Amino acid sequence: MASGDDRRTQGLTIGVDVGGTKVAAGVVDGAGTVLHAVRRPTPGHSAPEVADTIAAVVAELTADYEVWAVGIGAAGWIDAERSRVVFAPNLAWRDEPLRDEVAARVGLPVVVENDANAMAWAEYRFGAGRGRRDLVCLTVGTGIGGGLILGGELYRGAFGIGAEAGHMRVVPGGHPCGCGNEGCWEQYASGRALVRLARQIAADDPAAATAMLEASGGDVDGLTGPDVTEAARKGDPAAIRCLMEVGHWLGEGMASLAALLDPDRYVIGGGVSDAGDLLLAPARERFLEAVPGRGHRPVAEVVIAELGSQAGLVGAADLARI
Ligand SMILES: [Zn+2]
Repeated sequence: MASGDDRRTQGLTIGVDVGGTKVAAGVVDGAGTVLHAVRRPTPGHSAPEVADTIAAVVAELTADYEVWAVGIGAAGWIDAERSRVVFAPNLAWRDEPLRDEVAARVGLPVVVENDANAMAWAEYRFGAGRGRRDLVCLTVGTGIGGGLILGGELYRGAFGIGAEAGHMRVVPGGHPCGCGNEGCWEQYASGRALVRLARQIAADDPAAATAMLEASGGDVDGLTGPDVTEAARKGDPAAIRCLMEVGHWLGEGMASLAALLDPDRYVIGGGVSDAGDLLLAPARERFLEAVPGRGHRPVAEVVIAELGSQAGLVGAADLARI
């Protein structure tokens, strides 16, 4: 095993990204290169079942590679010891000892990180945030995952559950959220919001939603975020309007974050960021309109993440070195 500062660059670790539908894992070197990756369906949502699946993919990867630690990125709130999943708003996990469950099975040091923190760390070390010391990373998927790099360090908060930007409340009394509140940012600037807007248009005015419904095979309830993006790319006005509204809300929240954090860059990842400038242009526009002190201050750049769907496992693997 490497030791001290050498840990940051030497040897191999495994990163595991646990999502609601899939477990992705890979062997990663100290430069963030994925040497070998595997993926399995998430078996069920109990922690022991997930730990069994993680142990199986680790066994598969360690058959061919010598690794010295395992980092797990999980879609939940993780305690400050990087050990337990305290709460998962979108899974049924409540205070699950995931680190110990996995460590007992694989016989290697294990850390558990919030998946959005892992993605932010990967973008900071190897992607769109390289060389930036104050970075906000927003993973815009079903919800919003937030990750903060402040002064070159991953910011976790006193209890490990900081940077949950998606649960900042932007509309008092607004749409209900899995966290128990109403009006959270992620109910307005996410894939879930995109789908809600598109289905509303399809229900109110099916003719206006023709292109989006074509992409979904004609099924209003089956309409997905990628269907909206596909229609928008082809120039469909209703789909473009949906992305504009989600982008508008994204920029609105980024302006509030600038008041608190003054980052020099926002990195936007997650599935909805596949829409590129169809999302980012309205987000930038609203950000510049709403940022406090506009016209009299430097403003952060807003860029798309570079590492794509592997960011979570690359970041988790790198955080296992720390
Ligand atoms: Zn919430």
